[in-house]
Amino acid sequence: MPREQAAELQANQISAWFGEHKVLDRVSLTMHAGQVTALIGPSGCGKSTFLRILNRMHEMIPSASLAGEVVLDGADIYHPGQRITAARRNIGMVFQKANPFPAMSIYDNAIAGLKLCGIKASRAQKDFLVEDSLRKASLWDEVKDRLQQPGGGLSGGQQQRLCIARSLAVSPRVLLMDEPCSALDPTSTRRVEETIESLRGQVTIVIVTHNMQQAARVSDTCAFFLASQNTPGAIVEHGDTHAMFNNPQDQRTSDYVNGRF
Ligand code: ADP
Ligand code: MG
Repeated sequence: MPREQAAELQANQISAWFGEHKVLDRVSLTMHAGQVTALIGPSGCGKSTFLRILNRMHEMIPSASLAGEVVLDGADIYHPGQRITAARRNIGMVFQKANPFPAMSIYDNAIAGLKLCGIKASRAQKDFLVEDSLRKASLWDEVKDRLQQPGGGLSGGQQQRLCIARSLAVSPRVLLMDEPCSALDPTSTRRVEETIESLRGQVTIVIVTHNMQQAARVSDTCAFFLASQNTPGAIVEHGDTHAMFNNPQDQRTSDYVNGRF
């Protein structure tokens, strides 16, 4: 099973609605191959919606609709000829609340995505993938002696890393992370950041975070989203993270990154 390479992901003029309620307005953003992009902004400005649109989860919400395109290495993932399973395999997702299958073993959790994505693997390949993905998620050393125990028995931070391993086991080219550390203690948060660091260059990462220090530590580029009562979510400013934090071009960005919101 060859490893896939990191891919560029491009959102072009994305608008999104829940029923009549428009929540995103013409959002365009390029997430460069192998880089880490942080999405920041106050609650309710559409970051999670944007992330779900990037791997076609948005279309599973009955009231949801969208305009625009999401392009993975040149191909629109919403094109009628594109299969949804391909999008899911190429573009993994990790949520704020860790969601391993609690009764399933750690081993089976790690490779649960294979079946969902229709990937066949021999026992030896599975053994390899379990170890490889758990190592990448900085969890191997803590669980290698109890792989047959249920995933639900792990701590919250370990469960989150198990979910990251599960995403990585299918060799995604992009990994979307929606506030992956906001329920974690500082130690687990550090492990997740180490994992992000070690994936740099191999996987394109998009992370939503409310932690400005975290955004500054882990991301290469950053996009600041904002919405108001009457205005749907849009990107106010985006670019190199260092530049955005040290020399924001928009007063609202400056206020937000400096905690004045
Ligand atoms: P964020 O992640 O930045 O906090 P969200 O993407 O969750 O923002 O939400 C953006 C807007 O879309 C909010 O006004 C929210 O209430 C609305 N919204 C999110 N999910 C749904 C849904 N499933 N049905 C209806 N409205 C939703
Ligand atoms: Mg959210």
